[in-house]
Amino acid sequence: MSLQENYNDIKNQLSENVELVAVSKTHPVSAIQEVYDLGQKVFGENKVQELTEKYPQLPKDIQWHLIGHLQTNKVKYIAEFIDTIQSVDSEKLLNEINKEAAKNNRKIKVLLQVKIAEEDSKFGLEVSEAENLFEKFIKGDFPNVEITGLMGMATFTDNQDQVKKEFSVLKNLYNKFNEKRPLKTLSMGMSDDFPIAINCGANSVRVGSAIFGRRDYSQ
Ligand SMILES: *Cc1c(COP(=O)(O)O)cnc(C)c1O
Repeated sequence: MSLQENYNDIKNQLSENVELVAVSKTHPVSAIQEVYDLGQKVFGENKVQELTEKYPQLPKDIQWHLIGHLQTNKVKYIAEFIDTIQSVDSEKLLNEINKEAAKNNRKIKVLLQVKIAEEDSKFGLEVSEAENLFEKFIKGDFPNVEITGLMGMATFTDNQDQVKKEFSVLKNLYNKFNEKRPLKTLSMGMSDDFPIAINCGANSVRVGSAIFGRRDYSQ
């Protein structure tokens, strides 16, 4: 299938109130431009170096989302232009984003990444840590950051009940936070599990290989 067919196929499965973040990591600028030309404006990358190489070569109205683990010493390279950092997994990182956003006279949107998967290899905050950070944010601790929602990844498994259970944990937390302060984004679901995620309440999905094809890490 062509990029265009893949893209339209995904878009047709998403209702209008579900945001699509097209995950372009490992794929060339030419492919991103092609999907952009089909009308896609939101793209996700997981590495700072790859993002800062691609950014100047592409249209300036792309909303870039950082979706991978972010080291504090690299925040400065993206603070000027990043739309949303979806992978906030520590207070130290949130502090650094706040500091670099202030330097650039802006507010940076972030999502708190919460550990919902049973497998323990994934980054993310424990629920209690996320609650703690959100309280501090409401108190005004991070004035140059806007926590707009939550992000999570489910266990990589064929067991749909487990995936559902994990996504539901995040949806419940999202509802709880939303009562304290209105949120916009519940980011969960990737190529293999986004329909389940949407059933569980996701309003933003991060889809890579189903649009761009399989990633080749050998180069
Ligand atoms: C790579 C990646 C995705 C997209 O994965 P696909 O299976 O290719 O859709 C989504 N979220 C995160 C955090 C990723 O690193």
